[in-house]
Amino acid sequence: MKKVNYHTHTALCLHADGMETDYAREALSARLDVLGFSDHAPFPDNRFDLRMQYEQLDPYLQRVAGLRSRLAGRLDILAGLEIEYCPDMLPYYRTLCEKRNLDYLILGQHYFTDSSGALVNTFRCPPGADSSLVLEYARSVQEGLETGFFPVLAHPDVIFVNDLGWDENCEKATDIILRCARETKTVLELNANGVRRGKKQFSDGVRYPYPHPLFWKRVAKSGLPVLINSDCHNPSFLWDDAMLECYWLARQWNLCLTDHFRRS
Ligand SMILES: [Zn+2]
Ligand SMILES: [Zn+2]
Repeated sequence: MKKVNYHTHTALCLHADGMETDYAREALSARLDVLGFSDHAPFPDNRFDLRMQYEQLDPYLQRVAGLRSRLAGRLDILAGLEIEYCPDMLPYYRTLCEKRNLDYLILGQHYFTDSSGALVNTFRCPPGADSSLVLEYARSVQEGLETGFFPVLAHPDVIFVNDLGWDENCEKATDIILRCARETKTVLELNANGVRRGKKQFSDGVRYPYPHPLFWKRVAKSGLPVLINSDCHNPSFLWDDAMLECYWLARQWNLCLTDHFRRS
């Protein structure tokens, strides 16, 4: 297996440190084979904050392309974006994939639209929410993956940052995501940034906010391919203890690791 990381942010997203050259320096010293950039994608209407501004998209892609040619033969550099699925943005995803020369889009549902049409911040469940929110999240992930624009699903279990308790809804939601990942040939990401947040007491046990062990036990049973990504927001996190912990967890949980995915 190659040594890879496809989930890398840069200072352009306004909540990370370091530019593409700083991450490349780290990747060379950690002897990575592939370094993929996937900064938080802008939307043309700049609808979400704390991310790249739309005006920065072209400069971002040019910087990554420049780095790619400078490092050719030493380190494979890829240009991607991490982006939310919003039902009204299909033409935009198509433009990104077809006209902007991107290598891939990673789906990261930091926000999702629920069945009533309301926008939910995945990290802050609305007051009074219960585990049915996990089902709402799963359905929005499913709708996103079915568009075919996203070959990788970032932190598929990110909804468990909320303390909703593990129950039948969570099992059902996990199965929706896994079934859909199988049908759309989407690779699931085991995300080291959840590990960096540290273990906490939740009502379903002491665990990382994500990865959630019960989610990944079902992934193991499914045999679906899993990609470990750093999701680094600082060059020093590119290949750190949280990454090593993810590789250790993957072994403990018997996950089927992969180092690649289909290109959109
Ligand atoms: Zn971020
Ligand atoms: Zn993310």
